Amino acid sequence: MPDPCTYDHDELARCTEHPDELRARGIPIRCASCSARRDWLVILHRGTVWIRCRCAHQWHEPELTVDEFDELGAGPPDRYWPSFDEAVASMGFDGTLRGTYF
Ligand SMILES: [Zn+2]
Repeated sequence: MPDPCTYDHDELARCTEHPDELRARGIPIRCASCSARRDWLVILHRGTVWIRCRCAHQWHEPELTVDEFDELGAGPPDRYWPSFDEAVASMGFDGTLRGTYF
């Protein structure tokens, strides 16, 4: 495992997988690319929350806050990757599993 202490913390992103439906202000989130309604990767980067779908479509979700990210049960980091691309590929959010929702 790479040493997390060597990471540039300005570029560090925290991610948590969310297999269920996700709502922003009570409205279910839906992927604009493939119409998926669940099975998300929720990303926190520089105080901004992003959503990524299995199809690799990713967007900034301004309705989700840092507190809501923490409430999703992200918990303390338990896995590290040297790059964001490696992280999303390892977790199956690089588009390889487009159309496959767990
Ligand atoms: Zn999608």
